[in-house]
Amino acid sequence: MQTDNLVTLDRDHLVHPVVNYRTHEQRGVTVLTSGRGAYLQDSSGRELLDAFSGLWCVNTGYGHESIVRAAEEQMRQLPYATGYFHFGSEPAIRLAAKLVELTPASLQRVYFTMGGSDAVDSAIRFIVNYWNAQGKSEKKHFITLERGYHGSSSQGAGLTALPVFHRNFDLPLPNQHRIPSPYPYRNPLGSDPAAIIESSVAALRDKVHELGADRVAAFFCEPIQGSGGVIVPPKGWLKAMQECCQELGILFVVDEVITGFGRTGPMFACEAEGVTPDLMTLAKGLTAGYAPMGAVMMSDAVYQGIAEGAADLPIGHGHTYSAHPVSAAVALEVLRLYQEGGLLENGIALAPRFEEGLRAMLDHPLVGDARSRGFLGALELVADKQSKERFDPSLKLADRLFEAAYDNGIILRAFADNVLGFAPALCYTSNDFDLLFERLERTLNAVL
Ligand code: PLP
Repeated sequence: MQTDNLVTLDRDHLVHPVVNYRTHEQRGVTVLTSGRGAYLQDSSGRELLDAFSGLWCVNTGYGHESIVRAAEEQMRQLPYATGYFHFGSEPAIRLAAKLVELTPASLQRVYFTMGGSDAVDSAIRFIVNYWNAQGKSEKKHFITLERGYHGSSSQGAGLTALPVFHRNFDLPLPNQHRIPSPYPYRNPLGSDPAAIIESSVAALRDKVHELGADRVAAFFCEPIQGSGGVIVPPKGWLKAMQECCQELGILFVVDEVITGFGRTGPMFACEAEGVTPDLMTLAKGLTAGYAPMGAVMMSDAVYQGIAEGAADLPIGHGHTYSAHPVSAAVALEVLRLYQEGGLLENGIALAPRFEEGLRAMLDHPLVGDARSRGFLGALELVADKQSKERFDPSLKLADRLFEAAYDNGIILRAFADNVLGFAPALCYTSNDFDLLFERLERTLNAVL
């Protein structure tokens, strides 16, 4: 492969997601060429252990022939079927029914998207429509968590509470509000689980009272905040937030785009706490990255509320590729692999190995915190372990870590606040974890 040519073409033409354009032009692209299991190869022939499942999505690992076959067969049979004009396709219908079976009992209806951002965007539109249809058109305010990530659609990026998604984009919108994140390592009240849960509930209640309950549409949250730095709230937090939303008469939306599909152990994080949201957004592990697809799940009450408000008019929300049959066929096979191919079981069996490896890194002089649930984890690096002081951003430690990781043969995510994120594929073996932690230690030593 003529990599030099690709690097030039990329620099001159391809706009990448969430990079600094100038830095990217100088550094150039790393062209990934193939993948097997948990390993990737790039165009220089370097083998890389992927500790991030692509972008927390390739939960199955790379190279599953049965997924390829499912896509190929569907492409031959029927590559496209619109969902408009009352048409549909078998894999999409079967997938909708399967998701209803797997997700919490409150969720009965599925709208398919191409990914997570348009799932969040669709959820916002459905919620606005629902409250208008209910005659409660004042309910237009949305509350999310600080450090939350809900994609980068025009409105969803305003629910996202990370500064780079707002800067120069005129966000957040005036109807988008935030409450503090349940961040045990940096909670001013300390790490006591009951105190963290209580303070989150109080913050939500206060915010709703400040805005007026009759003006608040919904509270959106991730069960574990991913892009905000893998922030793992105490067990019981999600359930307490649901109960608070119910008490306040606002919709409770759980964004399981990262936490779904075995990432935290069970199929969905909601399952672990018996949480039954009004709406749920999904993507990533739904197709394990083999094809683009996302979904919004909603309760029958929300669906019927929207239907009643429409009278005899269509609901004006749709995408050409909604319920794409090839993506749906891929998703059905991916779900089979999680359940019958031993992937969920492996994720549950090896989660203690992952957690133990992360915790062992606490002995390293740079590591202030280690946290995880299931196969989702992070190390937070600090300049001073005692005071938890962060590194000076001018040191560009995150960039240096990403490069050092690459030099040592691993791909991980280095967030701006020097949190290293990990989302290994559910096919990881103990040997893969041994290699990961060996290479990780070398990576951290390289930036000491
Ligand atoms: N919601 C959450 C919690 C996410 O982590 C992401 C992506 O990382 C999204 C939504 C957006 O998904 P996508 O990148 O597929 O648009």
